[in-house]
Amino acid sequence: MKKASIRASDIAAQYWCERQMELNYIYGQKITKEIKKGRQIHGELESETNIPIVLMPKTYADVMYKGLYTSYMALKTLQQNKKTREVQIYGAINGFKLVGKIDQLDIKDGEVIVQEDKTRGNDNIPSDAQILSHKAQVVLYRKLLGDIKEGRYTLKDFESAYKTSELPITLEFKRQLESLQVDKDLMSVNSAAEALFGSIGELGKISDTLCIRYINQFSGNVISLHKIKYSDEEAQQMLDFVLRYWKGEREALPVPMEEKWKCNFCAFFGKECKVWWPQSKLHA
Ligand code: SF4
Repeated sequence: MKKASIRASDIAAQYWCERQMELNYIYGQKITKEIKKGRQIHGELESETNIPIVLMPKTYADVMYKGLYTSYMALKTLQQNKKTREVQIYGAINGFKLVGKIDQLDIKDGEVIVQEDKTRGNDNIPSDAQILSHKAQVVLYRKLLGDIKEGRYTLKDFESAYKTSELPITLEFKRQLESLQVDKDLMSVNSAAEALFGSIGELGKISDTLCIRYINQFSGNVISLHKIKYSDEEAQQMLDFVLRYWKGEREALPVPMEEKWKCNFCAFFGKECKVWWPQSKLHA
């Protein structure tokens, strides 16, 4: 599959089943009740920490601005509240653009901790396979944040990758910004990007401890909190593996035999994907 921009959630999905991730792109992802509930919980958590910013973008440039500006505003509250949510993050590797949205940043003992929230339909502790997929996502967020903070991915890189100086926001969107009393100097995609990159540059030390928090989507209770140690080497190995697919060096991999139980939870099983279908019939 040809794609210039890869999302962190794509990479997490590759670690669950790469073929399923590809099929989701080809046939469209089915928005299940669980996905809707998960989005609702993320919205509720965001409204608890971030100042609500209601903006109705009309074009790609407006959408880009909104992501940059709301992330900048989210980071502004981090020092004061020691916690913020929904920070858009960008980067690049081997000519691919990478993009994602960090669920939560916390400040603990002077260090910034990256946290990813996942919702579940029951109180069961997640399986190792689920944790691995979520780990890939949070590791990538930590890498992208570090790359900007340490100057490995600069504002210039971002501006040239997204051609931000050629992205004028619409007049109607500008009016919305005026009604929110956004600073006049901050009313372009370039200036919002500069503000966001500047804020990331000023973040304190980024912790090598990463957190994945599992939440029951019905009760809202925390089921478990997993802590992971980050290393640049592991992040690089992970990216080397996933990029082989995006560079077209290999086909999308189905799950291996020992993980074919995942197929029972896959909307494509026995239809668009029949890799493990014959075996399932034999054992039925
Ligand atoms: S049926 Fe199994 S191997 Fe095929 S896409 Fe779904 S999870 Fe992957």
